[in-house]
Amino acid sequence: MAEFQRINPLTGDVASTAPALQADAIPAIAARAAAAQPAWGALGPNARRAVLMKAAAALEARAEDFVAAMMGEIGATRGWALFNLGLAASMVREAAALTTQIAGEVIPSDKPGCLAMALREPVGVILGIAPWNAPIILGVRAIAVPLACGNAVILKASEQCPRTHALIIEAFAEAGFPEGVVNVVTNAPADAADVVGALIDAPEVKRINFTGSTAVGRIIATRAAGHLKPCLLELGGKAPLIVLEDADLDEAVKAAAFGAFMNQGQICMSTERIIVVDAVADEFAARFKAKVQTLAVGDPREGTTPLGAVVDARTVAHCQALVDDALAHGAELLTGGTTTHNVLMPAHVVDGVTAEMKLFRDESFGPVVGVIHARDEAHAIALANDSEYGLSAAVFTRDTARGLRVARQIKSGICHVNGPTVHDEAQMPFGGVGASGYGRFGGKAGIDSFTELRWITIETQPGHFPI
Ligand code: NAD
Repeated sequence: MAEFQRINPLTGDVASTAPALQADAIPAIAARAAAAQPAWGALGPNARRAVLMKAAAALEARAEDFVAAMMGEIGATRGWALFNLGLAASMVREAAALTTQIAGEVIPSDKPGCLAMALREPVGVILGIAPWNAPIILGVRAIAVPLACGNAVILKASEQCPRTHALIIEAFAEAGFPEGVVNVVTNAPADAADVVGALIDAPEVKRINFTGSTAVGRIIATRAAGHLKPCLLELGGKAPLIVLEDADLDEAVKAAAFGAFMNQGQICMSTERIIVVDAVADEFAARFKAKVQTLAVGDPREGTTPLGAVVDARTVAHCQALVDDALAHGAELLTGGTTTHNVLMPAHVVDGVTAEMKLFRDESFGPVVGVIHARDEAHAIALANDSEYGLSAAVFTRDTARGLRVARQIKSGICHVNGPTVHDEAQMPFGGVGASGYGRFGGKAGIDSFTELRWITIETQPGHFPI
């Protein structure tokens, strides 16, 4: 079978090789999944839970393999890889806990003697498409709750981390899912459109969840719409973090630095816009600059720096272009530096970003954050909402009631008062609005996303009909 290589962005060595499936391989995979699904869906909740619990343990047992794969394929630090693994295992255990929560209800009927029920049933085969940036979390998220709900799954792995995604499937196979219930598809980058298209078109695939860029999300939603197949879309972001004049500035600085630069800013919830009211703008900028200058970048294999490599040289060029455009339009570079080894890009902070600059609107998805000045609270909220995206947000104020009022006015799926924009837990409803997508992963919201809600009735009396 043909294979493709993923090249280590830092060293230029081959990080992994994986099967390069073509579109013509998809019908057999979809048929295999569909054949396996009914027996899995018919298992009792505790039987499904037992397998999922084993999968969580099997994932954790591969910790060092995951660290090596993520460092090699995407330049991740050890810390990011282990955080990914911890949250991913927790997502599988949460999915296991949900198997007995897939409940329906009895609904009062106006018809005498009619017992009316709403029941949740598996959908069938669910396609999950995951990106590379938080590869264990997002690969696991694409399949864990769908499996808990009794579906068979096909994980479409990212071309940037086929080994990391394959390790997830190996761990799930070891846990004892019946043959055909958990499937993976890997493809060379040039074949992505054809392979993903064939997966969406496969009649056995009933629903799609996609985590990735907004541009590709649109392609996927459009293709799926042709078949009337529902999608859950987790797309890009441009998360704002608002700092009001009564904020604890040290807390705001810590959260902003973590939110902007964890995993080199390559998180959908990454803080991309820090919106500070004028009264504290200078003080915030001084303290933030000092903090960010402690965040060194280095070779993740040495394990001595909080920042590792970005995923490719294209990311560096994209981020640098956003910075250059902002500086050309009058913004000021508070801290930055030269990229070395192609992908070791230092943390960049650009102050005085305005709505005319590309950095205000375009997702950087890299180690760059813009600081935007606001006159007051109302202006800060207006600036935060001046974005097509709406995934995560944050507001810092010592007045928590004020924080809640502001949070309620921000157009986003998620908002944290006095916490960073980067925050995820398995049981929380996760998702965005606008160009950040629609639908929710996480906890009970995930049950809604991955089951079919049906109306079933039983008549217990003789019928009376008008004709
Ligand atoms: P991407 O959209 O480039 O790729 C994701 C997937 O789309 C890959 O599996 C790829 O095979 C497929 N794809 C690429 N071109 C295609 C085409 N023409 N037709 C069909 N499929 C195609 O995204 P990425 O670069 O891997 O990930 C980064 C993006 O993901 C960022 O925008 C980030 O914000 C977003 N993201 C969102 C979340 C969230 O939960 N909202 C989480 C992580 C990342």
